[in-house]
Amino acid sequence: MELARQGVLSEEIEHVARVEGVEATKLARLVAEGRVVILKSSSGRRKVSPVGIGEGLRVKVNANVGSSPFLSDLDLEVRKARAAVEAGADTVMDLSTSKDLRNIRRRILEAVSVPVGTVPIYQVFAIGAGVDSSEDEWLNVVEEQAKEGVDFMTIHAGVTYESLERVRRVPRVAGVVSRGGCMTLAWMAKNGKENPYYAYFDNLLDILKEYEVTISIGDGLRPGSILDAEDELQMMEVHTVAQLVKRCREAGVQAMVEGPGHVPIDKIPEHIRRIKEVCYHAPLYVLGPLVTDVAAGYDHIAAAIGGAIAALHGADFLCYVTPSEHIGLPLIEEVVEGVVAAKIAAHAVDLVKRGEQRPDLEISKARARLDWEAQRRYAIYPPRFDELRAKVGVPEGPCTMCGEWCVYRLIRYVSD
Ligand code: SF4
Repeated sequence: MELARQGVLSEEIEHVARVEGVEATKLARLVAEGRVVILKSSSGRRKVSPVGIGEGLRVKVNANVGSSPFLSDLDLEVRKARAAVEAGADTVMDLSTSKDLRNIRRRILEAVSVPVGTVPIYQVFAIGAGVDSSEDEWLNVVEEQAKEGVDFMTIHAGVTYESLERVRRVPRVAGVVSRGGCMTLAWMAKNGKENPYYAYFDNLLDILKEYEVTISIGDGLRPGSILDAEDELQMMEVHTVAQLVKRCREAGVQAMVEGPGHVPIDKIPEHIRRIKEVCYHAPLYVLGPLVTDVAAGYDHIAAAIGGAIAALHGADFLCYVTPSEHIGLPLIEEVVEGVVAAKIAAHAVDLVKRGEQRPDLEISKARARLDWEAQRRYAIYPPRFDELRAKVGVPEGPCTMCGEWCVYRLIRYVSD
């Protein structure tokens, strides 16, 4: 960000400009203003392809992996991270909360070359002193992870002591559903003190700046039911986050803002525009939004619907949701389904906003030719294409759906 402000076109800016097909000087201006962030830490501990997120760039997809206290399998988490990247995830976040969290993070950092994100407060609670931790511990964990090469971190700095008071009196259907947000509230309640990430925000920025880690300001008070969307708690946090975005920019630290949550479909366009505007057009990283609360088992679909609408109206980065959301820890199959659903949402928006219609054109032409190999090539996730073809048999020419009444056969009578 600081180089961009000096008019220097860094290697990262040149790289992102090339892969996104945008002009490097224009990209540098957007980075300088904070409207685009480029994820890549300067730790030099690992080889990472920088990823740009924000205005004018492709909509990106993040996949969350990581263990839980009930299910901690290092190899499984590494395989989930790899499967997510193979399915098209642009970034991976390790959200491990088991005792083995350090090893899992280190192995994931080695296993993938996309930017990796974390939520440092999970470490404070999973293997640190939790509600009895000191403020120093909160900052030390950030430094430890930054040194290891983590590229972006979700930090719930917008959950303040004042919000603790409000959480106690503002009624909500689903309460507080952010794990990091809840941990922060629990610490403040136990210690009677301000959120360390808010109280020592300047110290936090010093660490992030040293290692060029992008902060993703968490939405600890996001709505967890469509009935809680846009309530007093959520909007209070959005305004605090906006002030923090300003402080990040003054300090030369790249910042993203995390968004809802559960939001009814008709509210999404205005909701997204409002958050972008209030938060000075910082790149917006949305968790969903889920357009209904009843899609358990299919929440990746509810999230893809909301994610597509949100991205069309300004969201820049979609955090995937898997079919296991609200039910349990996702395994490899659910990770892939989640990534693919989010990729469909992202592509649906890129094709209208950036005119990226070539894959759609090619697959449509291939369908008309009954060219199955080319259809496979342009399918969003070819292994699924193969799986379904194999399931019902692979006849020559038309597929098993219409057989001899295949429209692409019948239409030949019309054109001849
Ligand atoms: S048989 Fe039917 S579904 Fe299959 S390719 Fe032809 S038109 Fe499409």
